[in-house]
Amino acid sequence: AKTSGKGRFAFFDPPMAAAMLRRHDLKTELAGAIERREIMVEYQPIVDLETGRISAGEALVRWEHPVRGRIGPAEFIPLAEESGLIRVIGRHVLEQTCRQARLWEAAAPDDPPLRLHVNLSAAELRDPDLTAGVQAMLEEFGLPPERLALEITETELLDDAVTSAARFGELRALGIRIALDDFGTGYSSLSYLHSLPLDTLKIAKPFVDGLVGEGRDASFIGVIVELARKLGLDVIAEGIETPAQLDALRDLGVEFGQGFLIGRPAAAGTGRFRRQMPAEF
Ligand code: C2E
Ligand code: CA
Ligand code: CA
Repeated sequence: AKTSGKGRFAFFDPPMAAAMLRRHDLKTELAGAIERREIMVEYQPIVDLETGRISAGEALVRWEHPVRGRIGPAEFIPLAEESGLIRVIGRHVLEQTCRQARLWEAAAPDDPPLRLHVNLSAAELRDPDLTAGVQAMLEEFGLPPERLALEITETELLDDAVTSAARFGELRALGIRIALDDFGTGYSSLSYLHSLPLDTLKIAKPFVDGLVGEGRDASFIGVIVELARKLGLDVIAEGIETPAQLDALRDLGVEFGQGFLIGRPAAAGTGRFRRQMPAEF
């Protein structure tokens, strides 16, 4: 009898059912997570690859679930987008980050102030009140707009390039920087570069991974550096994990970088952020 066809019982797949249940529960639980103080921000240093000096930091959100443990943004940000909570969470991350910027400043008044990078999702970019909201937050904390950079991934832009360009224009008019995240992983990179007002390109980790050894990733990154220089954009390489990658990126003229080799994302502690430099520098 023909009873064992592939996918025959796909309507009941236990692992898939468990995943759906988890998504459902997380979505419900996320609604009160900010009030319960479970949504935290960690910061990862972005350094000048020549000198090793920390020039900026990237804010990365985490959910410390009291029962399930830590849940990463890759899992809960999409849920927040579906449930409409993303704006509240985004606002919370921005607020924490602005507050932290002032705390670091107060703790080390003689150090040059750090620029902080905050990630934005497409849903936030579509919000017509985004620019006014960000401006109000900066004013509340007395933070100059140059101290903030907003990152958006290339793939988040895809469906709405015109609105994206308009929004970037507003934000940049205030003095906020715009970084294109995961650069090279989308499909229309060149047309974005042509039409979007940008300050920074972040080279996606897969290209940094493929940098050492065979392959064409070195040429690829070389071209990005050249292009960025002509367009007056900064370049940040992401996901640097080995000294060999660090050397190769320096040789290619990439100015800034971040990655586990240099410093993992960490809670804002007492200066820990500033003392994570590896021996390579
Ligand atoms: P992303 O913006 O590309 O952030 C870089 C991710 O790579 C982070 O993962 C970071 O912890 C990780 N990473 C950094 N250096 C290394 C390395 O050397 N090796 C490896 N293997 N990984 C490295 P994370 O924190 O899990 O964040 C994942 C994504 O979630 C982020 O990717 C970003 O797109 C999104 N995200 C994070 N925070 C926020 C936020 O506040 N708002 C929004 N909308 N999205 C966020
Ligand atoms: Ca990012
Ligand atoms: Ca990235």
